[in-house]
Amino acid sequence: MKQLSEKLLEELVEDSLPYASEGKVRPVIPYYDETKKDILGVTIWTGDHCYHAGEQGMYVPMQSTAKIVTLMLALNDFGKDRVFEMVGMEPMGDFFNSISQLEKHNIDKPFNPMVNAGAIATSALIKGGNVEERFERYMDFMKKITGNPDLVMSEDVYKAEQANGARNRSLAYFMQSTGAMIMDPEEALDFYFRTNAVMMCTDDFARVGYFLANGGREPETNKRLIPPDHLRTVKSIMLTSGMYNSSGQFAVEAGFPLKSGVSGTIIGAVPGRMGIGIVAPAIDNKGNSTAGGALVKSLSQALNLNMFGVT
Ligand code: GLU
Repeated sequence: MKQLSEKLLEELVEDSLPYASEGKVRPVIPYYDETKKDILGVTIWTGDHCYHAGEQGMYVPMQSTAKIVTLMLALNDFGKDRVFEMVGMEPMGDFFNSISQLEKHNIDKPFNPMVNAGAIATSALIKGGNVEERFERYMDFMKKITGNPDLVMSEDVYKAEQANGARNRSLAYFMQSTGAMIMDPEEALDFYFRTNAVMMCTDDFARVGYFLANGGREPETNKRLIPPDHLRTVKSIMLTSGMYNSSGQFAVEAGFPLKSGVSGTIIGAVPGRMGIGIVAPAIDNKGNSTAGGALVKSLSQALNLNMFGVT
């Protein structure tokens, strides 16, 4: 096992960066184009030390990494039993925005909260009188867990999510027809689109990972913001479903909870050890950052991060 240092991190970033050429930058995200393709940045936060390598300070939308925060809030608001009445826990094994899976197998709820349908159904569980109140609660929680009071949603990204939201709308309305959507689908979608548009950099993503890895404590006060039982639920679902339909491969090759987003972000939570935040915009056809995924695997090997032990 190697010792974590910025020098090691720089070496691993350099080795992983060539994988960016295997991916594509998602063009519907504002400011995302091929000029962002060869970027890779990482922050590792261990609670007493912050390690950086590669591109720093680039703010990108959370996209699907928001799904873990929505799940944490829904669990806090309604508890495990109620949340999993509305959404399953099983890996889907299909593309993140699959609609066919909603109809197959005679299920009346989406597979899990890490795929679009599941996250939209979970969005309908967040408490608040209207979407503004519900999103304000989301932002308060985000600011607390990252320790960053300056986080904001990008209006441009939010508008782009709405403009390109036909697929997500069809998922929400389909779920309304089966009873899996318990509020006006447009309200749930509005919350979902806003969460996807919150802008963060590698430091913020690493802080979310550390929050999950370190007992759900607010960095400022050390107060628990989510019970350990809910945290365990979120991390287990990240391990089985956090990397879309490559989750099995990442469970084997990395061996700790991860969540990716189509902005090329990855949040990693190594229980009791560290939070990892990666930004590398080029993604593969399943939605995972190609260079970011390579970095996660090499970090796991170099630092012996696999929760299931060494071979
Ligand atoms: N905004 C994207 C969508 O809803 C996010 C998907 C993702 O990051 O997986 O399709």
